[in-house]
Amino acid sequence: MEITPVDVPEHERVIEFKDAKLGLLGYVAIHSTQLGPAAGGVRMRPYDHPAEALNDALRLSRGMTFKNAAADLPLGGGKAVIVGDPATDKTPALLQAFGRVVQQLEGQYWTAEDMGMTPADMAQIGTETAYVAGLSDGDYASGDPSPITARGIYNAIRVVAAHRFGCAALKGWTVAVQGLGNVGWHLCRLLHDDGAKLIVTDINPEQIARAVERFSAKAVETNEIYAVEADIFAPCAIGGILNEVSIPQLKVAAVAGGANNQLATDADADRLHARGILYAPDFVANGGGIVNVATEILQVEDREAWVGLRLRSMENTMDRILTRARAESVSPHKVAASIVQELLQPRAA
Ligand code: NAD
Repeated sequence: MEITPVDVPEHERVIEFKDAKLGLLGYVAIHSTQLGPAAGGVRMRPYDHPAEALNDALRLSRGMTFKNAAADLPLGGGKAVIVGDPATDKTPALLQAFGRVVQQLEGQYWTAEDMGMTPADMAQIGTETAYVAGLSDGDYASGDPSPITARGIYNAIRVVAAHRFGCAALKGWTVAVQGLGNVGWHLCRLLHDDGAKLIVTDINPEQIARAVERFSAKAVETNEIYAVEADIFAPCAIGGILNEVSIPQLKVAAVAGGANNQLATDADADRLHARGILYAPDFVANGGGIVNVATEILQVEDREAWVGLRLRSMENTMDRILTRARAESVSPHKVAASIVQELLQPRAA
């Protein structure tokens, strides 16, 4: 195994790991350990070029610093990526080799599940390192984070509704949900139970059919979701969907969802603001998943109570962000980013 440091100005530590015999190539990017050990999942994707994988690791690890800080967790931001097709290139030997890379970082970075990875893969990685979370079994195993992620997003939607419509109750409001996977499905359930009307889309027609049946949702084509008449848009699929093409089409009063990196660029936060659309910053809204994973890293004894407290604190943070954004007439994204920057300022001795 070859491990080579990569010099990146904004990051504390970045390494490239390579084992030609195993077909393993990837990066661990540790953006910040200022608030605690860096935590963030490992993603496996068939990147076209190593530089693309490195960029993903850099961008996502920075995002984890923001998400962990916004959730008030004693954790920093990190992420790992492995170049390869999870369907064909993932082998036990490759996962174990990655586990040895994580172990060599001696707890500076904790890994967990991300795209292309499963709880079973985490168990395989865990044969070589103690610094892995997202396991299904074990003393502090935290299991599937999606229901907690969805709960956090649901709370964020209620805060947004209180700010935008003057009432947190969602009965009668229409929410357009993009993506009916792990997070989107649980979110739809919570919204439906609360009496909200749903408009849904997914690239998977079976998921759409299930949502229509289970939640009496209205289905639309994937490219139609941006232009539907609704009160709130909840992106729960892919990143970059709030951009110069989609934002002018939106006919909603607010956007609050679970997808990571919803804004294509920071300028898109200003675009939403200029259109009077209230945007709940994604890295604040979707922190429930990492809160759940954190119970495993921090070996929390009373998991349920601890998660409940953190979710309430996330809700208060969202409320403070939206209040300050209104007072300062700026986008909530700008406020959220500056709150995190303040948290990351070195404390005076
Ligand atoms: P998932 O893979 O289970 O679900 C994603 C769904 O989106 C799938 O049903 C897929 O078919 C659909 N989809 C993909 N492209 C689409 C498109 N162009 N239009 C409409 N639908 C599309 O993933 P997930 O775990 O539900 O995560 C959803 C999002 O939330 C991701 O951005 C993820 O990074 C983010 N997130 C997830 C968690 C978690 O706990 N799972 C935590 C934080 C953030």
